[in-house]
Amino acid sequence: MAHFSNLIDIAGPDAPHAFDTVPLQPRTDDLDKLCQVCHGHGQWNTQIDLASFRSSRTVCQFCHGEGWVETGQDLVGVPDIVISPQGYPMWVVRHCRPEEDGVPAKKGPLAAGAA
Ligand SMILES: [Zn+2]
Repeated sequence: MAHFSNLIDIAGPDAPHAFDTVPLQPRTDDLDKLCQVCHGHGQWNTQIDLASFRSSRTVCQFCHGEGWVETGQDLVGVPDIVISPQGYPMWVVRHCRPEEDGVPAKKGPLAAGAA
């Protein structure tokens, strides 16, 4: 059987097909605003086969895959790794202010004129 494929690379979230088959994320917690980078999807395709729609995706680093961002002063949950009392690494959600540690602040990197 012939296998048809039409594989394309996708440069970023603004490229065509970046969000093909990628669902929108529901709003969770108290996050206020759709992410300006991924427009609510939380991730986008880095490569997609336009024949089969199989794709490789990357998680949005601006909203940590939530699709939504916090614009006020509420604490934001950020995935992090700590050493457990038993001595092995484990995933936790660390809560911090939006300005800390690269977490999106009121003005994101796009608002500052980057990109
Ligand atoms: Zn995003």
